[in-house]
Amino acid sequence: MECEEHSYKKCEKYMDEEYIDEESEEHIHEECGVFGIWSMEGKEVAHTIYQGLLALQHRGQESTGIVVCDTKGPIGNIASHKEMGLVSEVFHEETLEKLRGNIGIGHVRYSTAGGSIIANAQPIVLNYLKGTLALAHNGNITNADGLRKELQESGAVFNGNSDSETIAYKIAMDRIASSSIEEAVQNTVQVIKGGFALLILSPRKLIVARDPLGIKPLCLGKLDDSYIVASESCAITSVGGEFIRDVEPGEILAITQEGLHVVSTPSETKKRAHCIFEYIYFARVDSKIDGISVYDARIRGGRALARRYPVDADVVTGVPDSGLVAAVGYSKESGIPFELAFHKNSYVGRTFIKPTQQERKNSVKAKLNVLESVVKGKRVVLIDDSIVRGTTIANLIHMLRQSGAKEVHVRICAPPFLYPCYYGTDVPSNSELIANQLSVNEICEFIGADSLGYMDRLDFSYMTGDLPVCKACFDNEYPV
Ligand code: SF4
Repeated sequence: MECEEHSYKKCEKYMDEEYIDEESEEHIHEECGVFGIWSMEGKEVAHTIYQGLLALQHRGQESTGIVVCDTKGPIGNIASHKEMGLVSEVFHEETLEKLRGNIGIGHVRYSTAGGSIIANAQPIVLNYLKGTLALAHNGNITNADGLRKELQESGAVFNGNSDSETIAYKIAMDRIASSSIEEAVQNTVQVIKGGFALLILSPRKLIVARDPLGIKPLCLGKLDDSYIVASESCAITSVGGEFIRDVEPGEILAITQEGLHVVSTPSETKKRAHCIFEYIYFARVDSKIDGISVYDARIRGGRALARRYPVDADVVTGVPDSGLVAAVGYSKESGIPFELAFHKNSYVGRTFIKPTQQERKNSVKAKLNVLESVVKGKRVVLIDDSIVRGTTIANLIHMLRQSGAKEVHVRICAPPFLYPCYYGTDVPSNSELIANQLSVNEICEFIGADSLGYMDRLDFSYMTGDLPVCKACFDNEYPV
C-alpha cells in the first residue's frame, strides 16, 4: 500500500520525543524453551543440557535453570540450579560440576503468566508425599486461575504465581491418588487447557507431554545412548544429536531405564492448531517443526509477499536477524537483488549500565549500522517479521534515509497483530499494538515508509502448506 502522505517529518519529530524502544521490546516474545535428556549408560548430562539451553536461548532470556538426578543414586536426590539471567551468565564450569546426574531437564524463560521473579524461574521442584518432582513448561494454560484456586482450597501453598507451578502441584496431587507418575500426568493433562509442552522429572523417569492441538512445539531425538526432548530440533542437533520425530499433539511419552514408552497416544480429535508464529519468528531457522523447515517456510513467506506486494526497487534487504530469510525469499521471487543493508554488532549484549537519554536514542544505532554503499541513491525494500509498536522500524527507515536511500518500501512477513495470545506468547495489550490504533495507511505514514504491505492471512498456506495452524492473534479465532 502506498502512503497517501509522506510523513518523514512526523516520524522524525516522533523519534525526538524520547519514545524509542529497544529492539527487543519491539518483538513478540516466546515464553519458554525446554530441554530434557536421559543417558541410559549413566553419563553426566548437565553440560549437554547447558548446550541445549544455549541453542534455545532465543525462546527466553529472563531466567534459566537445570535440574538433574542420578538414577543410580539415592532416590529423590535431585540437584538444581536456577537464576535470573542468560544461560551463559547463570551457568559456569563450577555450577555445572555440582549438577551430577544422568537424567535432567532445563528451561529458559520469558515471563507472560506470572512475573519476572526468581520464584517463577524453572524447572519447578516440588518435595511432596511421594518424593520429588521437577517440571519444565513451555506455554500457557487458560484455566490456571480456577485450578490454582481449587488447589489452594485443598491446602496448596504456592511460592510464585506462574501457571507452571499450578501444573506441577496438580501433578503432585494427582500422583498421591495414582499408581504411577505417568498416570498422574495423564490425569493432569486431561484437565489443563491451552498450549503446553511439559517435561516432568521424577527421580527415575522423564515424562513428556504435548498439548492436544500441538500449539507448542516439542520434539524427540537421540544422542548415542541418550534420549533427548526439546522445544526445537536445533537444540538436538546443536548437542550433536539426531532428530527422531516430533512429539505428537496430545501424546505422552515416558523415558525410563527400560527405554522409551508411549504412555498415551495422540488425541483422537484430529483438530490441530500449530502456532504459525513459530514459523514467522520464534523458532530458529535451523529447526524443523511438525515436518516443516522453519527456513523454507520463511523463504516461502517472502515469496508470497513479493507476489502480493510487488514494487519497483533496486535492492531488497531485511531487518537483522528477524527479516533476513523472508527478504531472501522476496528477492528470489521478485528478481530484485538481496543485499545486507545493516551491519549487526553481535557484541552489544545486555548491559546493566543505565543509558542516558541520548544513549537510549542511539541504542538501535549501537546494534545496527547502515552500509551506506548498499542503499545510497537506491530504492530499498525493507522486510521484517512484524510491527508491534512501530518505533524500531521507524528508526531503521530514518537511518536508511539518512544514509541516502531514495525510497523505503516496507514489507511485513505477518499480518497486523490485533488480538492477544492466551497460549504462552507475549503479544502486548491492544493499546500498545500499533495495528490496533492505526490503519495500514496511517502506520505507513507513522513509520515514514513510502509504501507498506503486510502478509495476507490467506498466504499462510504458502508458508506451511496444509498444516492446520493457530492464527488467533491475527484473526480472533481461538482454537481453545
Ligand atoms: S495466538 Fe498467535 S502467537 Fe498465540 S499460539 Fe496462536 S498464532 Fe501463536
